[in-house]
Amino acid sequence: MTAATMSHDTAELTRQDRCDRCGAQAFARATLPGAGGVLLFCGHHFRNHESALAEAGAQVHDERHRLQQEVRTPER
Ligand SMILES: [Zn+2]
Repeated sequence: MTAATMSHDTAELTRQDRCDRCGAQAFARATLPGAGGVLLFCGHHFRNHESALAEAGAQVHDERHRLQQEVRTPER
């Protein structure tokens, strides 16, 4: 709701952002209300936790559309 958190929430995820659960590259970020904790998820784990995060009122930044681009574009 505040401008400060909004600008943070729209920052793009990078290759350095890793899933908190498994360490894979993160494609979604959930910012929890109140304490302000930030959780990073890969596509797989975000899917697992998506409904719980929505119930908790987390603000979600979802870049899973990039997952498909990365798969289609081989590295190197
Ligand atoms: Zn994961």
